[in-house]
Amino acid sequence: MAEDMRYFSTRGGSETLSFEDAVLTGLAPNGGLYIPTHIPSLPSDWQTRWSSLTFPQLSHEILSLFVPTSVIPSSDLSSIINTAYSSFRHELTTPLRQTGEKEWVLELWHGPTWAFKDVALQFLGELFRYFLERRNGVLEKSGKEEREELTVVGATSGDTGSAAIYGLRSKPSITIFILYPDGRISPIQEAQMATVPDENVYCVAVQDSDFDTCQSIVKTLFSDKEFNSTHRLGAINSINWARILAQIVYYFSAYFQLPAEAREAGAKLQFTVPTGNFGDILAGWYAKKLGLPMEQLVVATNENDILERFFRTGRYEAEETPSQAQAPETAAVNGSSDGQQAGSAVKATHSPAMDILLSSNFERLLFYLALETGEENSGSDVEKRGKAQERLNGWMGELKKNGKVDLGSAVRDAAARDFWAERVSDQETLAEIRKYYKLEKYGPYVVDPHTAVGLAAQERSVKKSPNTYWVTLSTAHPAKFSSAVELALSSDEFPEFNFRETVLPDQLKELEKLEKRVHKVRGEEGVRELIERVKKGEKVVPGEGKGSI
Ligand SMILES: *Cc1c(COP(=O)(O)O)cnc(C)c1O
Repeated sequence: MAEDMRYFSTRGGSETLSFEDAVLTGLAPNGGLYIPTHIPSLPSDWQTRWSSLTFPQLSHEILSLFVPTSVIPSSDLSSIINTAYSSFRHELTTPLRQTGEKEWVLELWHGPTWAFKDVALQFLGELFRYFLERRNGVLEKSGKEEREELTVVGATSGDTGSAAIYGLRSKPSITIFILYPDGRISPIQEAQMATVPDENVYCVAVQDSDFDTCQSIVKTLFSDKEFNSTHRLGAINSINWARILAQIVYYFSAYFQLPAEAREAGAKLQFTVPTGNFGDILAGWYAKKLGLPMEQLVVATNENDILERFFRTGRYEAEETPSQAQAPETAAVNGSSDGQQAGSAVKATHSPAMDILLSSNFERLLFYLALETGEENSGSDVEKRGKAQERLNGWMGELKKNGKVDLGSAVRDAAARDFWAERVSDQETLAEIRKYYKLEKYGPYVVDPHTAVGLAAQERSVKKSPNTYWVTLSTAHPAKFSSAVELALSSDEFPEFNFRETVLPDQLKELEKLEKRVHKVRGEEGVRELIERVKKGEKVVPGEGKGSI
């Protein structure tokens, strides 16, 4: 069934790519995102056969639906998955924790960097290693001198950088450079990145810059054809299909971890997902399309609420049209997110990993909506796909030109069948952290601000049936976002609360003692020079070099 699975770009072109090429390419040359040629079907006995599988076994079952054995033989896929998840600290990989009578939190942060991006990036790192090793094995056998190498360059304001470094550290044929604005990320985030001792890891603190500057340096390097092909640049941002794929698994895992009543006829299951670039929740949507029984998925946004506004109005617009402007709320300074389009209109909130202007993965959903609501729904699958690509292209063109596009009520209504959206303010986020710390029967529980956005949205969304079971995705450990957690809990109300003692895990305390390796450079030139020297085989010691200080 998976054997004929290929991948195509949302923005058009009739060519399809293998899973391997889609993963190594990341973003399609026409700016589109890769999606599978069809949604596979689950084996008829999945509910019984998969019920007692471990997380890696479940992952193997689900990934096998999308990855042909001709691309990755089944036993190789098993070892890729086993290696990827061996770094998780919890035996269930992504355990559920009960927080209410019919409410659970799905803890996705038991991986090496204590945030949910590890689930995808540990897997993606292993995939990169596997494909490169295989390609280089073939080159070696045929007596060729050359080897394929990947130079991963990314910008981060926090979570993505450390998860990518931990996913790619020590992988042969891969070098990783992570750029961030010097002095503008939290000490714990810098420590997580800069204390990784592996030779192939370069933490690049760009002087006098902000996240946007770092992001635009990365974009310039990618669009420099010569530089890009000389170094074979690789991207790690959330548009990579393998990241979505890996994330589908934990929705199934949650389903099987719930008590048996939640799987009986008449029971309803609702997932709430703190959302930024729409990657995490899109994986949930694929799980639903595959056949995992669930009601709508709840999109939880912070004050950067483009998605919530779309589900309300059918308009997808970076900035709100003044007529519906809501009262401004106080925004805290927390640094911007890892979203690609961060610009002046992004609000800095207490949940910075969700501070985005546009959600890059939303384009994948828009393709399916274009397909579903297209006027001429006749013709072959390939013809229908072509029409949907054309429509989507029109939308994306308009969005680029005007910063907004009105998708209309038919598209909005189609989307609303699968999603419900809620916007949560900074004030509500802090109140939610306090509320869970005060939980009696199931607490106390310290949640991070992103998880708090999810929990607030979950409580507010419509309870359609008393027989609904609620799962909110918890995307980070609270220790990673100390400022918001301290703001919420360091008060007279909780004299016993002490961040170091109550929240900070020993493994993260250990980081303070380790040596940091940071390459301080200035501007695009400094970054370019560092990459070129490293790729020439020079040993570059942190702190040295022309562009550096
Ligand atoms: C990246 C991130 C999110 C947002 O996930 P998307 O897939 O971009 O929607 C939420 N919370 C945390 C802690 C994150 O790091």
